[in-house]
Amino acid sequence: MVSHLWDKIELYCNNGHDGLVKMDLVPMGKHQTLYYACPKGFDANRNENEPMCRNRVSVKEFEKILDHISSILYDAEMNNEVINLQNIKWTQKGIRCYIFEHNDKIKVLVYNRNEVEK
Ligand SMILES: [Zn+2]
Repeated sequence: MVSHLWDKIELYCNNGHDGLVKMDLVPMGKHQTLYYACPKGFDANRNENEPMCRNRVSVKEFEKILDHISSILYDAEMNNEVINLQNIKWTQKGIRCYIFEHNDKIKVLVYNRNEVEK
């Protein structure tokens, strides 16, 4: 169930951009660690007056997002309920998460205070 969910969840940057900015899984830093990072963190994806965006979440944090969503879905299933997760929000270790759309995909706006405000 969890691996099935992995493909369904999309992360979007909640650091005040115009329009939706989807975060991509990219290797970063000298150890090429994988992060879901805002594309606006890279020069090539910004025009000159756009500020650099440091918003990103590690794969480990992404797995916690997955766990959170999966446990809500599991509880609902146990109660024979089909639920829509739209508008559900929570915070995990300084990362604010907000599900703004749930149809074939579960779309989550994320804001990682630890990265953006450091
Ligand atoms: Zn961003």
